[in-house]
Amino acid sequence: MRLRWCWPSRAEDRFESWLARRHEERVFAGESNPVGPCPDEAFLRDLARRAKRIALSDPRVNHAANCPTCVSRLLVFRQENRSRRRKLAFVTAVAICSVAAVTVITVARYGMHRQLPSTNLTVVSETVNLWDTGTIRGNQPGSLQSVFLPAALVRVTIILPRFSPPGQYAVAVTQDQNGNGVVAQRTAPATINGDHESVSVELDLRAAKAGAYFLATTHEQDQASYYYPLQIK
Ligand SMILES: [Zn+2]
Repeated sequence: MRLRWCWPSRAEDRFESWLARRHEERVFAGESNPVGPCPDEAFLRDLARRAKRIALSDPRVNHAANCPTCVSRLLVFRQENRSRRRKLAFVTAVAICSVAAVTVITVARYGMHRQLPSTNLTVVSETVNLWDTGTIRGNQPGSLQSVFLPAALVRVTIILPRFSPPGQYAVAVTQDQNGNGVVAQRTAPATINGDHESVSVELDLRAAKAGAYFLATTHEQDQASYYYPLQIK
């Protein structure tokens, strides 16, 4: 008889093979009858759990390895241990899954709450009329009247200067007239309203501090940016 049990750890594997080896040695030596009386249930349960306090030199271990009755009882106890371990693993897995689910729900709710203020923020509509306004092209200096925008989520409609070409425009709020320190930028096509063209974009200026900026318009083909002094209030 070979003991083919499925012990989970390497220490238990060694114990199992030691048990099987002892059995084979005794069969080989013709000592197939178990020596001594069957040990009590507590000892066999300990042996099934491979309790550390059981010394392998214990004659009861020798007996258990050679006694069909003890081996079958050991197998029953071992089966009990395994199902108990499986139950424990299942309960642990369920607990881990519950914690993970609660975490995901909490994070999702927290994220939703954090996003609520921005989604609830109303968009302020502003019209900037540049029809008669001069521009600063590149670094060229010029004295121009300032455009005012609030530090908010702004739907800004820019009436482009006369003779502006049709097409796609990039609208940006920058900190200087070289295009540095972009606060917000959006692109939209120009639309014709009567005799003038306008571009409508949504600019998020909520994070902008009040002060002096530039409003830049860049035509997609022209690639030259026009800067208009801008005050954010
Ligand atoms: Zn026995």
